[in-house]
Amino acid sequence: MKTLIVGAGLAGLVCARELQAAGDEVSLIDKGRGYGGRLSSRRREGLSFDHGAPELHLRPEDLAETDVLAEWRPEGGPARLVATPRQNELLKHLGAGLAVEHGARALAVAGRPGEWWVRTDQGERGPAERVVVAVPAPQAVPLLAQAAPQLSERVAQASYAPCWTLLYAPAADAEVPAWERHEPDSGPLSLVIAEQSKPGRGPEPRYVAHATTEWARAHLEDSADEVQAALLAALAEVWGGALPEPRYAAAHRWRYARVAQPLGEPCLYVPERGVGVCGDYCLGPDAGHAWASGLALAERLRG
Ligand SMILES: Cc1cc2nc3c(=O)[nH]c(=O)nc-3n(C[C@H](O)[C@H](O)[C@H](O)COP(=O)(O)OP(=O)(O)OC[C@H]3O[C@@H](n4cnc5c(N)ncnc54)[C@H](O)[C@@H]3O)c2cc1C
Repeated sequence: MKTLIVGAGLAGLVCARELQAAGDEVSLIDKGRGYGGRLSSRRREGLSFDHGAPELHLRPEDLAETDVLAEWRPEGGPARLVATPRQNELLKHLGAGLAVEHGARALAVAGRPGEWWVRTDQGERGPAERVVVAVPAPQAVPLLAQAAPQLSERVAQASYAPCWTLLYAPAADAEVPAWERHEPDSGPLSLVIAEQSKPGRGPEPRYVAHATTEWARAHLEDSADEVQAALLAALAEVWGGALPEPRYAAAHRWRYARVAQPLGEPCLYVPERGVGVCGDYCLGPDAGHAWASGLALAERLRG
């Protein structure tokens, strides 16, 4: 059985692995240039930043991937889980041995039951007997409009909260605060992470600061330059003194960051068409929800 999966994030990869292990012929396409999705890491000026999920909330049964997962204990507090040396390493690990095409953006699922094609900006991919769409709900809706309109309507009921994220590295010799993870009580920022305190990242000081959902909603259409300036000013408040000149700074917008309204079912599948969806939005806001959803869809497809 051939299965074509759109989206090589956590949900798509977990689903693909299970199907391939069960003997399916699986291929994935992803619009990103490399592994990432919302577990993205960015390298700039020789520094890496986890600008997507800062930590992973996984279920105990997902933790077999110990090769790439490590505990992080900021300031000796509760253990938090991260992938090493960067968050996207978890996806690289899951993707090993799978046929993943990066740099191809799906535009639509077309064809008919038993013979599905995915139109992409790089040409058509397929045919496949089954198609899985494993992308954030608002991006899945138009892809499914023709192949499975009822599925598309149901997926449209999920919603997300946006996030603006600041990446900041001071000069290497700058004095930096002692905290490793900080949750401001007020202001535009909800969480600031000292990336150098996470396991395996290297000692160069660099920070990732996530805005609150309220602030991100209010500034969603602002330019990246405006947001960068506003969030640097907010970081200076948290810093407790003048912020050193940036060696690197950037603002990244996540239009669909964390699930606000999940569907409340692990996955969706229309067996008579061979079309299914999985992703965090089926169950909740965490990486563990994406994982559980990918697994649930694979089980459903294996029947
Ligand atoms: C700022 C932020 C903070 C977060 N904090 C946490 C946290 O603290 N703890 C936690 O557990 N989780 C957190 N999360 C959520 C976590 O990252 C997600 O739940 C999880 O990564 C979702 O995986 P997914 O596979 O469902 O979707 P995604 O990771 O979004 O993967 C979807 C993939 O589909 C691809 N794609 C999309 N459209 C197309 C298309 N048209 N054609 C081809 N490919 C396409 C994308 O490139 C992507 O690789 C956070 C996320 C963000 C953004």
